[in-house]
Amino acid sequence: MKKLREKLYEWMQGRNGVDEMGLFLIGASLVLLLIGSFINGFLLSLIAFGLLIYSYFRVFSRNIGARQAENNRYLAEREHLRFKLQSKKVQFSMRKTHKYLKCPKCRQKMRVPRGKGKIEVTCPHCGEKFITKS
Ligand SMILES: [Zn+2]
Repeated sequence: MKKLREKLYEWMQGRNGVDEMGLFLIGASLVLLLIGSFINGFLLSLIAFGLLIYSYFRVFSRNIGARQAENNRYLAEREHLRFKLQSKKVQFSMRKTHKYLKCPKCRQKMRVPRGKGKIEVTCPHCGEKFITKS
């Protein structure tokens, strides 16, 4: 008679298991369930259950390659968001000394020191020159 733990281990062989995206899906569905139970949101609970079912599907999936690709996309997206949030934080902390602007031609972001009056800015990306108030 095998122990339950060993059986479970054997059964999980060749399956995806819980990865970062799985943890996120489970966490998100629990948060949605919690909010849904507070505001009595049927649709929210439905979405939460959908996420939960999807996360279970991913845990037990045998198509590990596809699940890993999903997880990598999720990780890249998370990293991108983290980077954006971080640069927003920096922008906010420097708001008194620097002005942040975008190039009108190529949308490249740049910053100029504040309090210098009207200045001519040259875009470091495309070389476009424009006048702005600092
Ligand atoms: Zn530009």
